[in-house]
Amino acid sequence: MTHKRILVTGAGGFIGHHLVKFLQQRGHWVRGVDIKEPEFEPTTADEFLLLDLRRWENCLVATEGVTEVYALAADMGGMGYIHANHAQILHNNILINTHTLEAARQNGVQRYLYTSSACVYPEYRQTETDVIPLREGDAYPAQPQDAYGWEKLMTERLCMHYREEYGLETRIVRFHNIFGPLGTWDGGREKAPAAMCRKVALAKLTGEHEVEIWGDGEQTRSFCYIDDCLTGLEKLMASSFHEPLNLGQDRMVTINELADIVADIAGISVTKKHIPGPQGVRGRNSDNTLLRQVLDWSPGISLEEGLRQTYTWIEEQVRQSLVLKSAEQMRHSQVLSGESMVKV
Ligand code: NAD
Repeated sequence: MTHKRILVTGAGGFIGHHLVKFLQQRGHWVRGVDIKEPEFEPTTADEFLLLDLRRWENCLVATEGVTEVYALAADMGGMGYIHANHAQILHNNILINTHTLEAARQNGVQRYLYTSSACVYPEYRQTETDVIPLREGDAYPAQPQDAYGWEKLMTERLCMHYREEYGLETRIVRFHNIFGPLGTWDGGREKAPAAMCRKVALAKLTGEHEVEIWGDGEQTRSFCYIDDCLTGLEKLMASSFHEPLNLGQDRMVTINELADIVADIAGISVTKKHIPGPQGVRGRNSDNTLLRQVLDWSPGISLEEGLRQTYTWIEEQVRQSLVLKSAEQMRHSQVLSGESMVKV
């Protein structure tokens, strides 16, 4: 195998950080770029640059001297975040993607993989829980639910035109809910599997076995483990396929079922409390017919196995944060009692 010089943007994020390690294990030289360092462990990138890719001059620096780009940088988060920040997300992601793609072209990059999303699919095809799996062609007539999805669709088209008119070999992947360890699990940007693992871990560690779920929990999704995602990305980049391609699992579960699987892994039973909250589309699943045809492969890691790995990691994070919190509380109460002693 030839060893390449590769740029991963968004290398401080969940998938980007895993991808850097994966590509290095394949023997490639990897530059990671992000506005922040990875949150949970240091980067292993051969070079890691802290750059804001909304700025054109930074995109020129980032894409210099590499032959391949995996473009993952995005202002994104879970449903709560995506529903509440349309203007900011659209503005930031248009700048990041327009500038990174053009800079890659000017720097003579040969291959460019853009990470799009199942959020491009129209809302009118996702109104039932028992939804028909989404084929790539279903994206049109377009009606994504959020600004996040509209931007993804627009950049897909930009990539297609750059290939047709400038000869830059672009690849476009549409992820369907990627999850795994080392992903955001708290703070508002976390997605459903991580949020569920956190809630169940908290229930287990505090003994309060009530878990909150947004909506009635009957909304459906499919979830794909990170290791399958990385394999699929590498295969797509190496392929000659340049149209958008789904990358996800095609096993659909409800959010209530997701909660049950995680609780089972944790070894506890939970009471589900359904509360109002953003739920996204009612049902979504990936049709992997084209994926199997193009890559002669499809994701094989089971939801249970992926969640077991993820839950174990998140339970440890929750345990550490609880220890920190109780130490802080103790310090705080010591300070207070010290103060009151002085006053007395
Ligand atoms: P993430 O939020 O963990 O990673 C994105 C990274 O982009 C973050 O580290 C962030 O700091 C960085 N970034 C944001 N603004 C930037 C800027 N101005 N300059 C440089 N870096 C910037 O998300 P992720 O889950 O790793 O997703 C990676 C990509 O895959 C994103 O493009 C996302 O839209 C897409 N995607 C992910 C999923 C999923 O399930 N995780 C689903 C569909 C699409």
